[in-house]
Formats: sequence, structure tokens, C-alpha cells
Amino acid sequence: MKNLCEGCGNCCHETEMILSARDIARIMKNGPKSLRPSDFIMKTEDRLFQLKNVNGHCVFFDIRSQLCKIYEFRPQGCRFYPLTLDLDTKMCVLDGDCPRPELFYPNSKSRINTCKSLIKFLEDEVLFTKLR
Ligand code: SF4
Ligand code: SF4
Repeated sequence: MKNLCEGCGNCCHETEMILSARDIARIMKNGPKSLRPSDFIMKTEDRLFQLKNVNGHCVFFDIRSQLCKIYEFRPQGCRFYPLTLDLDTKMCVLDGDCPRPELFYPNSKSRINTCKSLIKFLEDEVLFTKLR
């Protein structure tokens, strides 16, 4: 499968990507044996789990190749991106930092369908009752 992100990596710098418990379990299962949760997880002020940055980029971003080291089992939020949820308006928006949004979301139908999945993911696996 083609990596649509090749040569970019914008969203992997100073990432604020939230992690669900399922993301963490998947990364632990598929990552290197030596990987510990503290190597890639930090807690936000809201007590959510978030990917750790090292030297200004996600701990899983390979600076030499400019690729994600865990692309096949990356967090769900990285898969939804550049679609994100604005928590104030509760509207899905395409993040302006992505230079290729049309490759991921070529039409409104794809955005609407993924928006539903994104909200469900956040409600069920990350924020629980906060969005309600
Ligand atoms: S997990 Fe991969 S895709 Fe997600 S922010 Fe880190 S390097 Fe980027
Ligand atoms: S999702 Fe967009 S911003 Fe992130 S690496 Fe891929 S092309 Fe770049």
C-alpha cells in the first residue's frame, strides 16, 4: 500500500496526537520488544494519553527517512488525520498543516463518513463522556 505521507511528516512534528488504550496495546504488541509505555506516552493536563515528542518530533518519526516507524500500526488519530475534531464547535475540520488533504479525503462524503468514525472513536475510546 502506498504511503501517502512520504516525504512530508508535518503532522509528526510537535505532535499532540491523543492515544487510546487500544492504540497503546497495539503499539506495545507490534513494536520492539524493548519498548516500554513510558518511551512513547505522556499525560496531558486533561489526563489523556498523548504521543511523546523527542527533539521536536514524535518519538516514532524517523528523521532520516522522514517516515513513521510504526506506520502499519500507528495510532487511530494518525489514521484519521488530517481530519480532526474541533472540540469547541464539535465540527470535523481538515487541519491546515497537511499539504495533501485531498489525497486522504477527496470529497465531502469521505469526510462525513470518517467524521462519524472519528467522533465515535473519541467518545468510546478517548474522551468517554466529555463530548456529550
Ligand atoms: S505515530 Fe507515526 S504518523 Fe503518528 S505522529 Fe508519530 S510518526 Fe507521525
Ligand atoms: S497526514 Fe498530511 S501532514 Fe501528515 S505526514 Fe501525511 S501528508 Fe504530511
